[in-house]
Amino acid sequence: MSASRLARWTLLVGVLSLCFKLWAYWITGSVAVYSDALESLVNLAAALGMAVAVGYAARPPDERHPFGHTKAEYLSAVAEGVLVVLAAGAILRSAFSRFAEPVSLSLSPVGMLALAVAGAVNGLWGLLLYHRGRKLASAALEADGLHLLADTATTLGLMLGLLLASQTGWLWLDPLLALFVAAHVLWLGFGIVRRSVGGLLDEALEPGVRSKIEAAVQGAMAGALEVHDLRTRRAGTRAFVELHLVVPASMTVEEAHAIATRIEEAVQGVLPGAWVTVHVEPEGELLHRGIRPARDHPPKGSR
Ligand code: ZN
Ligand code: ZN
Repeated sequence: MSASRLARWTLLVGVLSLCFKLWAYWITGSVAVYSDALESLVNLAAALGMAVAVGYAARPPDERHPFGHTKAEYLSAVAEGVLVVLAAGAILRSAFSRFAEPVSLSLSPVGMLALAVAGAVNGLWGLLLYHRGRKLASAALEADGLHLLADTATTLGLMLGLLLASQTGWLWLDPLLALFVAAHVLWLGFGIVRRSVGGLLDEALEPGVRSKIEAAVQGAMAGALEVHDLRTRRAGTRAFVELHLVVPASMTVEEAHAIATRIEEAVQGVLPGAWVTVHVEPEGELLHRGIRPARDHPPKGSR
């Protein structure tokens, strides 16, 4: 199954489990089940927003957006952040009013069965996504699968808690479980917002990726004197790399351009799809820092 078909099925599974959770809430009247249903709703909206954003982000650059549209993903992340806060607020409100005024739960077998079906649907699909993700080496699919598995665990925990509440008559257990779900929702939102803010503020690529880039540049810069002011950033799925390339002042433009092209290709070798920009400078611009050629035989004129 292709990634886009998997994404469509994930939406369908989300709708299905949301329906079962709403049904279970209608039967049981449990605020914990209500919060679990709200979490499913947020997940669903997030998946929908992501699908739209990824489609838009994949458009090639045009005259008005010469750097491409990859930052569109952050727009959907902002919307998700707002949704998460709203959902957590709604959960907290109903949980606290339940603490103040406990309501007895009606734990009919039908309500528990509806919850169990919602959990099973999520769990099975999560397992499948996780395994496909491992096979296709897709971190996004793997993360989606793990998230669904975590939701399944939440639903299982809710069922156990509700059973315990009905056996012991501890009605406060229901809003307490809802608070745990609210914490889970907020934690999720924090992760999304954290990643997007990093991208919007042009955070540098991870240190591990940077050292790979440096090694690639060093391997491709023979004939040049120094590379400095190497800067990296990311916009959605696309990485950007900029650097200054210092060459002997007497080198022809043609030679310098050949080195710059070799460096661009080497960086794209370790960072597929990256946009690399090289600024060429004569040896008067040497800063004596940054990256030097691997084998340091000084070209004519320098030292
Ligand atoms: Zn410079
Ligand atoms: Zn060129």
